[in-house]
Amino acid sequence: VVAIRGLSKHFGALQVLKDIDLDVQASQRIVICGPSGSGKSTLARCINGLEPYQAGEVVVNGIRISPEAAHADLVRANVGMVFQQFNLFPHLTVLDNCTLAQTWVRRRSKADAKAVALGHLERVRLAGKADAYPAQLSGGQQQRVAIARALCLDPSVMLFDEATSALDPEMVKEVLETMIALARDGMTMVCITHEMGFARAVADKVVFMESGSIAENSTPDEFFGKGSSPRIRNFLRQIV
Ligand code: ATP
Ligand code: MG
Repeated sequence: VVAIRGLSKHFGALQVLKDIDLDVQASQRIVICGPSGSGKSTLARCINGLEPYQAGEVVVNGIRISPEAAHADLVRANVGMVFQQFNLFPHLTVLDNCTLAQTWVRRRSKADAKAVALGHLERVRLAGKADAYPAQLSGGQQQRVAIARALCLDPSVMLFDEATSALDPEMVKEVLETMIALARDGMTMVCITHEMGFARAVADKVVFMESGSIAENSTPDEFFGKGSSPRIRNFLRQIV
């Protein structure tokens, strides 16, 4: 679903991605972790066509994401993105947040969009909040709406960038459970997270980034096992 070859990106003189190669197959779950500033978010934004890059190639669903990051919404809709901040439209109800993009990106009628939205709200167990406004919801509920909203566009891959790190501890669980349920349903997922319990539970591969490079790309068994490299063990010690 995602094929990245030789991806490099600079911000001025600073090289933040260095010759990245990464593949994500259908229904695979990749967890990306690594120190702050290692380039995780920038990589995610390149996959979504939000960030221009200087070298290499990013292909999503057979479509080349251009280096200029000038994309039709249709291309972007292929990658459902969920951020740390939920970015819901505050003046729209939960339902309208979920139908708005469908009508212009997927050209669905209002009625079709509503049916799709209610289906995904049901999936994140928030169908009962369809008429509420974001401010009336908890952080965990808002994040689940953000997940439902992304799902409404039928993405071929879902990308989560620290989707739980702005949440109070008691709400982290409900969002992680939603993400685990998605994984169980076979969704292709790239998750930037330091929730190592989640990584153990669902990841097919754990990618460890360091200074703009992929330092390790291993199975969870290798990553969490006794034989993992000193830099990984050092990283794990710091986050728990
Ligand atoms: P964190 O764990 O803190 O979220 P990250 O791994 O997601 O970190 P990025 O946000 O991708 O890291 O940042 C990688 C590097 O790129 C950092 O050195 C950062 O300062 C730099 N950077 C990110 N965005 C910009 C920008 N718009 N302009 C200049 N430099 C940037
Ligand atoms: Mg980041």
